[in-house]
Amino acid sequence: MTTLITIYFFLLGLIMASFTNVVGLRIPVGESIVRPRSRCPQCGHQLSGWELIPVVSYLLLQGKCRTCKSHVSLKYPLIELTGGLLYAYAFIRFGWTIELAVALVLTSLLLTLVMSDLAYMLVPNKILLFFLPISLIVRYLSGPENWYNPIIGGLTGFLLLFLIFLLSRQGMGAGDVKLFGVLGILLGPLHVVIALFVAAFVGSVVGIALLATKKVARKQPIPFVPSIAAGALLTYYFAESWIADYLALFL
Ligand SMILES: [Zn+2]
Repeated sequence: MTTLITIYFFLLGLIMASFTNVVGLRIPVGESIVRPRSRCPQCGHQLSGWELIPVVSYLLLQGKCRTCKSHVSLKYPLIELTGGLLYAYAFIRFGWTIELAVALVLTSLLLTLVMSDLAYMLVPNKILLFFLPISLIVRYLSGPENWYNPIIGGLTGFLLLFLIFLLSRQGMGAGDVKLFGVLGILLGPLHVVIALFVAAFVGSVVGIALLATKKVARKQPIPFVPSIAAGALLTYYFAESWIADYLALFL
């Protein structure tokens, strides 16, 4: 039974990620997220029902548009697959608890923003404002350590990034600052700080790798939200064991 539910969450994650792809692509340019159906950006061919099936359609069409044969970016099926795996993992970790809802909200927020950052280098306010109240609700329902933890977490994330924003004057966008406010609500004050360090580490590894393989030019801005997403999720799931291992060195 558990296996069956895990598979269900995997499929749900695929579908949700396919939806957050659409949201992340359309909200920043002010388009409706319901209509019209997705089109090929090259020839405008409107995708039929089966062409909207996450991952499967990409494989069947071998990554090409059915009409004009132009290449479809690999990032769509990759983000969908990541969504499926993350939803399934959230269920494996938390089962039927309210923390599962927290994990799914965090995952969905990050999937949506990764897409809009990759497509437009934007972290849209609309998406953040949609997730802000939901994040507060699920975090409070989950029974945080104390009533002020989510608030302090949100303020910590926001103010820390705001400080970096003021000091750096480049590289860091205002959207990242607000995103860390929402992440702080979900992660709490200590973990949001850890998440920033992990994100910065992932970001520099990715940056060096992209420069070394000449995928980007020097000075060319690199989307930071994928690294933030990796930092936030790694911290959310594993920081407790990192902290335990660290303390074990001294105890
Ligand atoms: Zn086409």
